Amino acid sequence: MGFFKQKTNILFLFIIFLLVACLSGVSYFAYEKHNDYVAISTSLTDNNTALQQAQKKIDELTAKIAEYDTNAALSEQEKAELNSQLQSALEEKSRLEQENNNLKSQIEQLKAQKRREELQAQIALRNVNQADAATSGICYLTFDDGPSDNTLKILDILDSYGIKATFFVVGTAKTEYMPQIVTRGHAIGLHSTTHNYSTIYADVNSYLADIQQISDIVYNTTGVRSNIIRFPGGSSNMVSAQYCKGIMSDLTVRMPQLGYSYYDWNVSSGDASAARVPAATIVNNVLKGAKGKNSICVLMHDTSAKTTTVEALPAIIEGLDAMGFRFAPLTAEVYGYHQAVNN
Ligand SMILES: [Zn+2]
Repeated sequence: MGFFKQKTNILFLFIIFLLVACLSGVSYFAYEKHNDYVAISTSLTDNNTALQQAQKKIDELTAKIAEYDTNAALSEQEKAELNSQLQSALEEKSRLEQENNNLKSQIEQLKAQKRREELQAQIALRNVNQADAATSGICYLTFDDGPSDNTLKILDILDSYGIKATFFVVGTAKTEYMPQIVTRGHAIGLHSTTHNYSTIYADVNSYLADIQQISDIVYNTTGVRSNIIRFPGGSSNMVSAQYCKGIMSDLTVRMPQLGYSYYDWNVSSGDASAARVPAATIVNNVLKGAKGKNSICVLMHDTSAKTTTVEALPAIIEGLDAMGFRFAPLTAEVYGYHQAVNN
């Protein structure tokens, strides 16, 4: 009993240490940002003073020219000199105005970035506190068909919100990014080696050989022997019937017996419904699909072509967070989100 108590204490201290480390990091960056803000604000104040002076000079010169225009005694050379001074003053004013606009837009950008970072920190904190304990409002974000040129961008976005997701990978993808999925704390699942329906669904043995091969690729690249899978096309797919009658009925029973948990999804982002689905549509599909559900598994794709999925991801996370969802990676114990088998 005492031993367990001690273990709990050590874990507690470790969590406190992590939180303090995170906070110091955040404070340091906030301090750096604050310095940028102060520097730009000072430049803007200087610029405003210079603008006022330029305007004053223009007013003085304009007044003098008006006065000289009515004074016939003044030489043409003096008038030309005054006009040239006025021209320079006007140019200086226009340069200062442009600089003024630039500085204002830099300040707006810093403010927007600060708001976003505050939101990210809030989401990360809520998620750390509640993801494990959540009995409702849990969200499993899943990405199929990767890794790809977008994987690192997806990982950076997930990191910025401090949340974990699940990647169902394929053997023909950019396997060099597989280790980062694992080292950055996400779940790696098996999707297929080739993702070629006609070969993997030719018969049960072909499917088993394909899944063994992707399992070995993941193991050799990441050191993880994954026991979570997603069937290409999902367990409800009918395309497999063209190659082998009843194969999904067999595999959905056989794979769990072999120690694999399989997952479909109950929210689809629709990012694969066209070559390039607008980011706003993807966000809408997810948030609409999540409405009224307590526990969701969201289908998205991680391929190089799916740039709008990456674009949509921050709004998806922020929208689901606002609906009360916490985020977690899939584990074999989560077993579920199964669709009806049609073949
Ligand atoms: Zn797929």
